[in-house]
Amino acid sequence: MVEINAYRLNVGSCNGCDIEVVSALASRYGIGNMNVKVVDEPEKANAMIVVGLVTVKMMDHLKEVYKKLKEPRVVISIGACGLTSGIFQKSYSVMDPSDKFVPVVAYVPGCPPSPQVIAKGIAAVLKADFKEWPAPEGFRGLPDLDEKKCTGCNACEKACPAFAIELIDSGNKRTVKYMHDKCISCASCEEVCPYDAVHLAKKRHPAGFQRPAMGVSAVEELSSCPICGNFEIPAKQLPAIADRIIEKVPEYKSYRADIEKAAAVCSKCRGKIIQMGGAKALLFKLGQTAIQ
Ligand code: SF4
Ligand code: SF4
Repeated sequence: MVEINAYRLNVGSCNGCDIEVVSALASRYGIGNMNVKVVDEPEKANAMIVVGLVTVKMMDHLKEVYKKLKEPRVVISIGACGLTSGIFQKSYSVMDPSDKFVPVVAYVPGCPPSPQVIAKGIAAVLKADFKEWPAPEGFRGLPDLDEKKCTGCNACEKACPAFAIELIDSGNKRTVKYMHDKCISCASCEEVCPYDAVHLAKKRHPAGFQRPAMGVSAVEELSSCPICGNFEIPAKQLPAIADRIIEKVPEYKSYRADIEKAAAVCSKCRGKIIQMGGAKALLFKLGQTAIQ
């Protein structure tokens, strides 16, 4: 492709991506030298820049606008919402990501993506050179995961508002997966991780012809439940739990092995123990009533 005449379509964006698209058109990013023009009618365009998540109301409009484009009808999807429906993906008014409705050629992740990442995605379509300059100090980019420190405790998964972290258990292994196409660089994972295992690096989101589905990951061993043998609690977490208990009550030091064993009891068995405790309390109460 030598020339882009782009029609910009907002299918449900919060306007964050829109603002960055406008910034990306500024001369400092060099898009003007790459034969890129923005046009106001789809019939005049050979490319479409789609921003936002696809809402129920915009789904048909997106497909209609795509049909009006001139060949080769290149679609560039912008932002975490465009790629994955982002933080709104479970909302009632939201459909699937844009590539489920029109063939997307280039993906530009981020919430919102920086103008440099947008320019990089456009340059990739034009096969033009694009020199990215380093991110500034304090830039909050993509999460980096230290596999040695990560215990697979799942605190980050629970805190992530963008569903960008997945914990997959298979046999005695747990994989902690961070997905860069969904990540909005909010830093909640960094804040909640009790083991200091995750940090937002000075790394911009990647842009290109493929959806960057896979980010960083760590594989953790799960210990088996001493009661039922089920694999649920990450092995690395057991000494950390014992450490915290002993720190609070130093007299328990000699019971470290028992504490670790108790901590390895799975949630199902723990539930039964709690129920048993409740049943005993009830029996005791009934017994007391009978004596009176
Ligand atoms: S990164 Fe931190 S919070 Fe997430 S699973 Fe690993 S240890 Fe737990
Ligand atoms: S920074 Fe962490 S918590 Fe925030 S979206 Fe990315 S992976 Fe999720």
